[in-house]
Amino acid sequence: MSERIALVTGGTRGIGAAVARALASEGYRAAATYAGNEAKARAFTEETGIRTYRWDVSDYEACKAGIAQVEEDLGPVDVLVNNAGITRDAPFHRMTPEQWREVIDTNLTGLFNMTHVVWPGMRARKFGRVINISSINGQKGQFAQANYAAAKAGDIGFTKALSQEGARAGITVNAICPGYINTEMMSTIPEKVMAEQILPQIPLGRLGEAEEIARCVLFLASESAGFITGSTLTANGGQYLH
Ligand code: NDP
Repeated sequence: MSERIALVTGGTRGIGAAVARALASEGYRAAATYAGNEAKARAFTEETGIRTYRWDVSDYEACKAGIAQVEEDLGPVDVLVNNAGITRDAPFHRMTPEQWREVIDTNLTGLFNMTHVVWPGMRARKFGRVINISSINGQKGQFAQANYAAAKAGDIGFTKALSQEGARAGITVNAICPGYINTEMMSTIPEKVMAEQILPQIPLGRLGEAEEIARCVLFLASESAGFITGSTLTANGGQYLH
């Protein structure tokens, strides 16, 4: 059991909620952020007792203020899980600058914003775990996701570069690349596309579950993973062998 403090962005539903739950059940003092879905956040807190905080990870000042509040409530953040993410899919010839910007700002700049704020404290305390939720589509690319694939590939580069800076300060930085996971993000995919195009690509023949990604996070956050930094853990049912 760990009494460390863990902050999960986008932790009120989907993968993030499973991660926050898993961390709390291992004894971490967990907090979860969200962007605007109050109903989900409230239901999540009622069910789990995990505190939730609303701010936009693409806004640096909001991250500073939000993290200050979390640290006042719980204490300094030891484990940061950068999980918040969005999709705004469109074939490139129809992708708008706004769709590009929103996805880059949330899925890539959000990592800078969040990590930059907790980094000095982790350095000073000589301990930190930064775990970035990237994606299989950042590794292999995906039709109609030039924005998302660019951001998620950027997350991997960010992870590798930052791991080199964190190592001497006792901070590990790792990425996880989930394949298709059964969350609301997947609900935008038409059933026919899922059955005929997506499932046949996955050797294990099924979507992953959010809890399976949560267990990857638990491992990377643990003392047992102390020698692992700069790595990318793929959890994709064998769909893409990197
Ligand atoms: P969901 O859409 O289920 O949940 C997204 C979460 O992120 C919500 O809590 C949402 O808050 C929050 N969020 C979105 N934008 C922001 C923002 N700007 N600031 C703060 N919080 C924000 O996502 P998933 O659980 O499916 O995905 C989680 C992560 O895993 C994402 O980074 C995604 O790209 C990645 N991933 C997912 C895969 C999948 O198959 N599902 C596959 C590979 C990677 P609110 O509820 O308020 O909207």
